[in-house]
Amino acid sequence: MSRLFLPDLMFAQGRAHEGAGLLVDDAGVVAGVVRPESAQGAPVHRLAGRALLPGLANAHSHTFQRLFRARAEGRARGGDTFWTWREQMYRAAAFVSPEDVYEVARAAFLEMLSSGITAVGEFHYVHNDRDGRPYSDANTMAKAVVGAAESVGMRICLLRSAYLRAGFQKEPHPGQQRFYETGDAYLRNHEALITEMAGKPLVKVGAAPHSVRAVPLPVMAEIAEVARRQGLPLHLHISEQPAENDACVTEYGTTPVTAIAERGVLSPRTTLVHAIHLSQAEFARVAQSGSTICSCPTTERNLGDGVFPADVAAQLGIPVALGTDSQAQIDLLEDARENEYHLRLVRRERGILDGVRGEEIAGRLLDSASKAGYRSLGLPGGGLANGEPADFFTLDLDDVALLGTDAATLASQVVFAGSRAAIRDVAVAGRLVMQEGRHLLDDEIRARFRRVVRRFVEEA
Ligand SMILES: [Zn+2]
Repeated sequence: MSRLFLPDLMFAQGRAHEGAGLLVDDAGVVAGVVRPESAQGAPVHRLAGRALLPGLANAHSHTFQRLFRARAEGRARGGDTFWTWREQMYRAAAFVSPEDVYEVARAAFLEMLSSGITAVGEFHYVHNDRDGRPYSDANTMAKAVVGAAESVGMRICLLRSAYLRAGFQKEPHPGQQRFYETGDAYLRNHEALITEMAGKPLVKVGAAPHSVRAVPLPVMAEIAEVARRQGLPLHLHISEQPAENDACVTEYGTTPVTAIAERGVLSPRTTLVHAIHLSQAEFARVAQSGSTICSCPTTERNLGDGVFPADVAAQLGIPVALGTDSQAQIDLLEDARENEYHLRLVRRERGILDGVRGEEIAGRLLDSASKAGYRSLGLPGGGLANGEPADFFTLDLDDVALLGTDAATLASQVVFAGSRAAIRDVAVAGRLVMQEGRHLLDDEIRARFRRVVRRFVEEA
């Protein structure tokens, strides 16, 4: 039997609605945007005082990094850079058991749900046991993360990552021994994971050669070919820092985007994570290929990576998804507005992304946080169109930050002033996994996460 979710305001199918509800069939799929009198007797789930919006998609996440949030912000002796942050990351990666990975992921996913995220792309590269040897089931860690998503009721695309080496002509790094596989082992383990996850309605598997640094190009091309044959999303980090570009030039005589483009890695199923330090010609090449860029501005500002030229991407029509990456903060609406705000600071102008290719700014940023992310993960959704899964969240219109919101400004209010504090209900495939800002497993997840952090701190 269908149900009608009836909020005061709704942003669905590309525009704001007042007095209409979301009709959801018993398979959890959107059947229409209709007024109650046209709902053919479907039971009404009234969401009074709420605005309903498409669920957000976090297209780039490493959940285990939540473990050391706010613990690597100082300036280490000798001068702090991205690389001292990476040492903290190695310590967290060396610490976690499969049970810890599960608990840390549950806490991160709970925070994601409570900030309106209904689908996550987990870029997963911690595969091996602490001694660097594979677990008897090489997908033990990946399955712990998937189990965490299932436990909280979140949609997940597990982007199983290949991490083969420290870099061109570099000795293996001791901090990376839980990441390393051979190319062949990667392909085998990836295939096994796909087989095992088949038939799980909220779980998908994608391929993720970590970066040009960690995966030699011939292997990357092979992984891309497997993804092409199976129609899987393919994600990789690219040009986050200029040093990476320099190393690629040394090894291959060209910068990363050009190098992978020449080996057939770019396609509409490809997502390039970060893509900050690209030449104009490389952006044009990305646009031509139909690939997505996943921008992670909250992490990029935290790590001092640089400003993503969102204006260039917009002008070229490149789809831009968003990711919380290092989990420095989990707030995709913040990421959405940062892509505009960072450019305002650089250019000392406002409204930079407004009107580009005829698209107004709030709709563009909201699409980045929802539709573009779903597309990047190879999932239908993000727009609440008929036939898409009913993944959505609601905001309390009585929240003091949102007072005065009307249909005309709904998207703008949400993108520029919305926050986790106002989020109340979250549904995945039509099932409410959070209600009134609470999740059924709230207390348990919090308690268990605290225990993992305590052990992590004590062992330091
Ligand atoms: Zn990342």
